[in-house]
Amino acid sequence: MSRSFSRYLKACADVFFPRLCVVCGTRLALDEQQLCAACLHQLPLVRFASLTENPMADRFVGLFPLVRASSCFHYQKGATVNRILFDLKYHDNPQVGYVLGRFMARLLLRQDFFDTVDVILPVPLSRTRRWQRGYNQSEWLARGVADVTGLPVCKDAVRRVRNNPSQTRLDRLGRMENVDSVFALTARSGLLSGKHILLVDDVFTTGATMLSLCDTLYALPGVRFSILTLAWAGA
Ligand SMILES: [Zn+2]
Repeated sequence: MSRSFSRYLKACADVFFPRLCVVCGTRLALDEQQLCAACLHQLPLVRFASLTENPMADRFVGLFPLVRASSCFHYQKGATVNRILFDLKYHDNPQVGYVLGRFMARLLLRQDFFDTVDVILPVPLSRTRRWQRGYNQSEWLARGVADVTGLPVCKDAVRRVRNNPSQTRLDRLGRMENVDSVFALTARSGLLSGKHILLVDDVFTTGATMLSLCDTLYALPGVRFSILTLAWAGA
């Protein structure tokens, strides 16, 4: 099918089934996906200059070998932009994750964020949560990042055995106690030994989930971590 014919079909489809921006609800132009250009450019972007001036990375210092950590936009309660996360998690719209995964990757590619990364690992959902939602939103973000970077995505090396880390988990991690794990390695996890693993998730709040995942993966020899989330809700 020629490109112009494909555009013509898309334009026809837009007439009968108009696509709307997930943030402001206006009708999308033919070349826009999920977000209109105005909303995309108004995203409150997070700019962590380096690991030493990075509150996200601070949570991992002294615990795990961290290479880089970044997030795409600031999450503030009640802000319009949070509709993106709502759509991604609760509105049966995984496609917005793919589009923003691509957006994040294009931004960070210019900063050499993905240099030396070997594999992308989306934070797994528990089997029940995944069944309820029908998809894992982090996998769709990872898919977008992979599409731009050409990096492989690993989805079967670790599984989530509980939904949330316990409240006391952060304190315990400091002491490296191997109890109450949220995640468990699978028979495929050996493939990650010696790798620089990019962990991808939708929101970073306390970091407890990411810390727990690092704690589980750190049992593999020679692993290093980078972390990327769509939103940063930390202080
Ligand atoms: Zn918009």
